[in-house]
Amino acid sequence: MSDNTLIPQSKLPSLGTTIFTRMSALAQEYQAINLSQGFPDFDGPRYLQERLAHHVAAGANQYAPMTGVAALREAIADKTDALYGFRPDANSEVTVTAGATEALYAAITALVRAGDEVICFDPSYDSYAPAVELSGGVLKRIALQPPHFAVDWQAFAALLSDKTRLVILNTPHNPSATVWTKADYAALWQAIAEREIYVISDEVYEHICFAKDGHDSVLAHPQLRGRAVAVSSFGKTYHMTGWKVGYCVAPAAISAELRKVHQYLTFSVNTPAQLALADMLRASPEHYQELPAFYQQKRDVLINALADSRLEILPCEGTYFLLADYSAISDLDDVSFCEWLTREAGVAAIPLSVFCVDPFPHKLIRLCFAKQTATLLAAAERLCKL
Ligand code: PMP
Ligand code: GLN
Repeated sequence: MSDNTLIPQSKLPSLGTTIFTRMSALAQEYQAINLSQGFPDFDGPRYLQERLAHHVAAGANQYAPMTGVAALREAIADKTDALYGFRPDANSEVTVTAGATEALYAAITALVRAGDEVICFDPSYDSYAPAVELSGGVLKRIALQPPHFAVDWQAFAALLSDKTRLVILNTPHNPSATVWTKADYAALWQAIAEREIYVISDEVYEHICFAKDGHDSVLAHPQLRGRAVAVSSFGKTYHMTGWKVGYCVAPAAISAELRKVHQYLTFSVNTPAQLALADMLRASPEHYQELPAFYQQKRDVLINALADSRLEILPCEGTYFLLADYSAISDLDDVSFCEWLTREAGVAAIPLSVFCVDPFPHKLIRLCFAKQTATLLAAAERLCKL
């Protein structure tokens, strides 16, 4: 390094490397079974891969339209209509993004001004806070408590102020594996109806929901969807987190603003992947219709295989994550326990406290069950020995 190297003053001084990267690296170092970072250890549909190869060979290799390939936006609009009884306008209300992460960033950047307050629910997914901070917003966190992680709507109302601009919710919820009900949406609407407050609903696990009444999207709520950005990710639905294609649906006025950010963040998203996803959505709605049963089977394999362990399993209504309480096994805090577990037991998991700002004194870890049965059984065998 030259003596003239400048060291910038960090705009995100408190941020380090994400827990997902850290735990996956530790899993690799110790050759542990990796149930930490959320990604499948199996491949997505063959047809989707074939369509990708087809579109590459057919020459669809230049920039896609800024808002997304028309065929994909149309397919998303039709799917939204079929599932949530609302058809967004494919031209002005659907935007294809580089994963849900980019949609979240673009929406937060478009909606949050310096000094605005943003409410989120802890434990919360790790990409919200940095985006809010970079926009000069102030995050107000509502701490949810295990095992049900239910929102205390009185505490929510008490947190609202004239500065509140945005609420970020996530259902099915990573990492708690709980889902929002109609009553939650009704309470949210009642609290914010009279104020200029927007909503971002992170619904990347919309098709991985085991709740009796299924997934309830913000888009199914006529009042709320007038001020909401619903965010989804094909990475979760088609078992290909590495493709990084997601999308968001929002009213035209909100979409216009978030597209201004998207336009200069990525401009557009991988063209052949978008075309392949459009083909897949049209050819096989069964894929996402069958996803709850597909993942419920995996969830139950892991739960059953852990029946003789000293872990206490929490209810799991959605996502591909299972929470386990390890109090009967160790007194270590959750971060130390996950490091120990990776090194000594050969299983990597995610500690829950990293998703919270307030102290989170519970002894909970998150296990990803988007894995082949053999992987789940091998991990459970190790965990049962503890
Ligand atoms: N939100 C949540 C709750 C997630 O779990 C994830 C990814 N794991 C994302 C957003 C980001 O999705 P993507 O990989 O499509 O950017
Ligand atoms: N969302 C994934 C998880 O919760 C990880 C994504 C990432 O590694 N950034 O595990």
